[in-house]
Amino acid sequence: MTLHFQDLQLDKPLTDALRAAGYESPTPVQLQAIPAALNGADLMASAQTGSGKTAAFLLPILQKLLKRSDKPGKGPRALVLTPTRELAQQVEKNAQIYGKNMPWLRSVSLVGGTSFGQQIRMLSKPVDLIVATPGRLMDHMRQGRVDFSRLEVLVLDEADRMLDMGFIEDIETIVAATPASRQTLLFSATWDGVVGKLAQKLTREPQKIDIERVEAQGKIDEQLLYCDDMRHKNRLLDHILRDANIDQCVIFTSTKVMSEQLADELYEKGFAANCLHGDMPQGWRNRTLMDLRKGRIKILVATDVAARGIDVPTITHVINYDLPKQAEDYVHRIGRTGRAGRHGLAITFAEVNEYMKVHKIERYLKRQLPEMAIEGMEPTRKRNKNAAPKGKGKPWGGKGGKGGFGDKHKRSSAPHGKRPGGDKPRSGGFKSGGGKPKMKK
Ligand code: AMP
Repeated sequence: MTLHFQDLQLDKPLTDALRAAGYESPTPVQLQAIPAALNGADLMASAQTGSGKTAAFLLPILQKLLKRSDKPGKGPRALVLTPTRELAQQVEKNAQIYGKNMPWLRSVSLVGGTSFGQQIRMLSKPVDLIVATPGRLMDHMRQGRVDFSRLEVLVLDEADRMLDMGFIEDIETIVAATPASRQTLLFSATWDGVVGKLAQKLTREPQKIDIERVEAQGKIDEQLLYCDDMRHKNRLLDHILRDANIDQCVIFTSTKVMSEQLADELYEKGFAANCLHGDMPQGWRNRTLMDLRKGRIKILVATDVAARGIDVPTITHVINYDLPKQAEDYVHRIGRTGRAGRHGLAITFAEVNEYMKVHKIERYLKRQLPEMAIEGMEPTRKRNKNAAPKGKGKPWGGKGGKGGFGDKHKRSSAPHGKRPGGDKPRSGGFKSGGGKPKMKK
């Protein structure tokens, strides 16, 4: 029997908004989290990005907000903390979508990199929901602009990632400023180590929800491609990017510098490519994401942190140009594709010397990644267990630019983010290429 949102005791303004958003039935995490949260339980949910976790915590919050607060004051009734600006903005946007039949709803996202002025104006009036990154929220708290006395619900989204990013002290300070009577909803990929201890401290008899990983739900096909070296990797990438099936693609690199260099090289080759990383000013980051959403960018070359929270359903491919540093980042990366019920393809490059790193990811996933090779472009080197991983910091194969895409090894002088996403590819871009890569097992 298929359950509908109405069966989860959500009121009509919400179920109507969900229908308008095209949501037919709740996802597994929503099925479990919404009734529990509506019952007032604290939650510890491990659900990955792409699972529908945002609606799983926003819908119970909005259901609460349908009723007036019996407490005076203008402080927020719900607070969502996220690790990145993009994720905060995405969550706040979703709150507006689900709350579209609640015209009185006032939500605000407090993130760094944007001007204080508008945020201060928003905070000067009563606000229902704040979605924030810890750093910027702390800035406002220090100035006495946020009063948590009305707070009913606290959510930590991607709690593990917030701790990885060093936000533990900020989180503890923020939590200490909230009423002990609050309901606490925690979402994290893992509960190991510090994040588990924090969860214990913050919750009371939490209900635990463990949703199978996104990739196990079969929406994302995966391929592992071994290559000999950078030069070989770049040839493979070039071949893959000419696949006419690619609508939009996110390529992950391990460093900011490499994301810029790779985006430049691809741009010079005629692809509508741009980069996204944490050192770019927020305005550029927002514009780049807008360009991606509008389809003006076909290839986004991104670092892990910057790409968190990207929710663009037309991303058909994710390419792990560099292996993720942490195994769990693999799951977050591939979750950029296969969104909103679509199918996606995640391709991971690994140099033959990196196969121990691949095993680490496979151990975390508890399964093997399907290894493929492109006909005529197979690796020739043998895997050497003891060799050190290669290629750090030199995306184009080291000295003299050998192994780069182009003959030249020149970086564009235009600062990233300034390049308009609407720039036309100089040659045909995706559609110009040599058709589908032939894969063989
Ligand atoms: P999330 O895991 O919260 O980032 O959500 C992943 C994607 O699924 C987003 O594009 C949501 O808009 C979409 N989504 C969430 N819940 C549902 C649902 N019940 N039905 C259809 N799409 C959904």
